[in-house]
Amino acid sequence: MPIDDAPPASTPPQRSTLDKDAVRTRLRERRQRLTPGAQRSEALVARLIERPQWREASNIAAFVGIAGEPATDAVLRAALQDGKTLWLPRVLDAKAGLTQLVQVADLETLVDGSLGLREPPSDAEPAVDRVTPSMALDLILVPGLGFDRTGCRLGHGPGHYDRLLADVRELDAPYRVGLCFSEFLDPLGEALLPTEDHDVPMHAVLTDTQWLHCAPLPPHVIEPASSARAKCRGCGVKIERGALRFGERVDSPYGDGLATFWFHLTCAALRRPEPFDAVLSAYPELVFDNRTALAVHVAQGLAHHRLPRLTRAMLDPSGRARCRHCHEQISRGTWRLSLTIWQDGRFEAMGFLHAACAQTYFECSDPGEFRARIAHGSELDDDALDQAVAALATAPT
Ligand SMILES: [Zn+2]
Ligand SMILES: [Zn+2]
Repeated sequence: MPIDDAPPASTPPQRSTLDKDAVRTRLRERRQRLTPGAQRSEALVARLIERPQWREASNIAAFVGIAGEPATDAVLRAALQDGKTLWLPRVLDAKAGLTQLVQVADLETLVDGSLGLREPPSDAEPAVDRVTPSMALDLILVPGLGFDRTGCRLGHGPGHYDRLLADVRELDAPYRVGLCFSEFLDPLGEALLPTEDHDVPMHAVLTDTQWLHCAPLPPHVIEPASSARAKCRGCGVKIERGALRFGERVDSPYGDGLATFWFHLTCAALRRPEPFDAVLSAYPELVFDNRTALAVHVAQGLAHHRLPRLTRAMLDPSGRARCRHCHEQISRGTWRLSLTIWQDGRFEAMGFLHAACAQTYFECSDPGEFRARIAHGSELDDDALDQAVAALATAPT
């Protein structure tokens, strides 16, 4: 049973106040203590080559891992075996942080470069010191000392990748994936890595234990349903074609990017006040029938964080259920409220309440609000609704 009675966290994650060099020192020390076995790199490579972003890419820029970084030899071999065009960095000027990308067809031709990592020989062609549209890169794998969950990267310092990534951002392609061992994803714990304006975030970070999608989600939407296929996540009923529906954007639980959860507008206003409020705020001029009324429910749901859990009311049929608030048994034949909580993309049952405990539990005593929510979730006629609301409203608090 989910036990989550805390209000939702309202403070966004904070960036570390440490400067980049201080964090670099810390992460280099962590790297030196780390002796990752080959199987950790293999686990990372196995994750990578089953991703759609890898399978669908025909032009890939990668890198040769150094000590403390995932070994990428298997990635490079897989790219060439799969017939992909492979680009690797060659350092032009180590101090100035100048790097170019060189197309590589044979890994045997790599030589020891100035920074102690293998790289294409200096006579290799074609070599470009910018990432250009003609390279048609689909995917760029990026090393780093550390990455955070927003996709921000901390490099080694001279900025070898900064210019390449700046070009890449201009192009709006390729897909950017940071590679590191799991100790270096969110290496400062809760705090995010320090960043500067020119830093280019990753779309995703891949470690030996997870693929983390970092790109910002597109905004939630309100739109007419283009078909009658989608079921409402709130009530489970199909949303009619042409009816306005609310789409909540989330990271796909399967890690392939984006998923959309669809709701009837009323279901969303009552049950998902935070994302629904975001869409109402984003589109103040969007007009639909009951916008004003729904906005009131949204405001109530935001002000009383447990209120969206109220799903339905019924006369208790068994006398066996216990009240989630006071833990007393609910008498047979008295009003009881069903609670659900949103978890992992669906509403899970979380027990029942006495009518007598409702005002305390929800921190709300507005009969109109109770009535609207019960009416929406229950099949009660007006008389029964009146009785249920009266039981809530007259309850001692
Ligand atoms: Zn619904
Ligand atoms: Zn109770």
